[in-house]
Amino acid sequence: MTTVGILGGGQLARMLALSGAPLGLRFLVMDTAGDACAAQFAPMVVGDYTDTAALAEFASKIDVATFDFENVPSQSAQWLADRVPVFPSPRALAIAQDRLAEKTLFRELGIPVPDFVAIDTREDLDAAIAAIGTPCILKTRRLGYDGKGQFRLKSAADTDAAWQALGAQAAKVGLILEAFVPFERELSVVAVRGRDGEFRSWPLTENWHVDGVLSASLAPASVDAAMAETAFAYARKLAEAIDYVGVFALELFCRAGELLANELAPRVHNSGHWTIEGSETSQFQNHLRAVLGLPLGDTRMVGRACMLNWVGAMPDANAVLQEAGGHWHDYGKSPREGRKVGHATLRAESAQDLSAAVQKVGQALGRGEQVAPVIAALRDS
Ligand code: ATP
Ligand code: MG
Ligand code: MG
Repeated sequence: MTTVGILGGGQLARMLALSGAPLGLRFLVMDTAGDACAAQFAPMVVGDYTDTAALAEFASKIDVATFDFENVPSQSAQWLADRVPVFPSPRALAIAQDRLAEKTLFRELGIPVPDFVAIDTREDLDAAIAAIGTPCILKTRRLGYDGKGQFRLKSAADTDAAWQALGAQAAKVGLILEAFVPFERELSVVAVRGRDGEFRSWPLTENWHVDGVLSASLAPASVDAAMAETAFAYARKLAEAIDYVGVFALELFCRAGELLANELAPRVHNSGHWTIEGSETSQFQNHLRAVLGLPLGDTRMVGRACMLNWVGAMPDANAVLQEAGGHWHDYGKSPREGRKVGHATLRAESAQDLSAAVQKVGQALGRGEQVAPVIAALRDS
């Protein structure tokens, strides 16, 4: 009996555990909160990730470890890796945890990125704004997620406000200033790399964010084959450069037909949730296969899919459950503003059928704004 340890007990761990059950896998989750949403499906070790006693208990009960939470301190990941196999490696995790290291690596590999400058002081910020221009975004180098730890500057007049908001973080987690990309669309490559180096990618996904939080995803994205190939090539180059094992997402901006890399998510990703029903093998199943050294599953799509995120509170399920290709995911979390509490996936054979289903669900749930960009993209596809 193989036990997979997961650091972090959120919805990603929960969906990993659900997906691993048919493989006969057992799971053990470590989280700082005993009521983490994966606890419903897996036993837990509750403790801080830097607590070696808790880590030792966790390590003693598992065969392999992986992550639901990308900000586990890299020393803790390394401590664990000295005792059990850990995938992705602590080194890959450390690169993805630091926006400066990550963007520097992208650039070294010939993957285009928005202009960026590391910021340590207020003087650095003034100089960087003069060099990069506005609009731009000041971000924490580490620990940001769902758009947290970011400040958007429309002009140099916003410099004081930006420094007031994030200046104190400079000494703690570092800061980076990035050019704001007036992108036409956001895309992500969700891909998997096995222990033996085999690489597979799901079809490209188009994503829409609201206030920095993913709101909707559509797959396949309607981009020409050459652009998709370029995106896959970037993802593959990156995964090979850091000997990545497992599923990851490469977030991309598309502007004037050019792709710019935003960030690497070193784990299963929200923009890949549609793969549960929309592809031959889901990202969760393939992540487990990768970290266990099993053969990877086919990543081809089954029809087309749209994923809608439920943020804050769950809407009524019936509108989705009534649809032929409607699938409901309730993470069992209590409602809280800005919190991802669930998602729905709608699947159909044609763009027309998918558009009709998305429109119907949007209307029934009063989510016209959320579904509008998806319907527009399907119309253009
Ligand atoms: P995640 O939850 O994806 O890990 P995060 O907190 O790491 O989010 P980013 O992915 O950097 O943050 O930014 C969140 C969103 O903000 C992006 O998906 C994009 O919509 C917007 N954004 C971030 N950086 C830029 C940029 N340089 N130009 C334009 N938009 C940006
Ligand atoms: Mg991120
Ligand atoms: Mg992101």
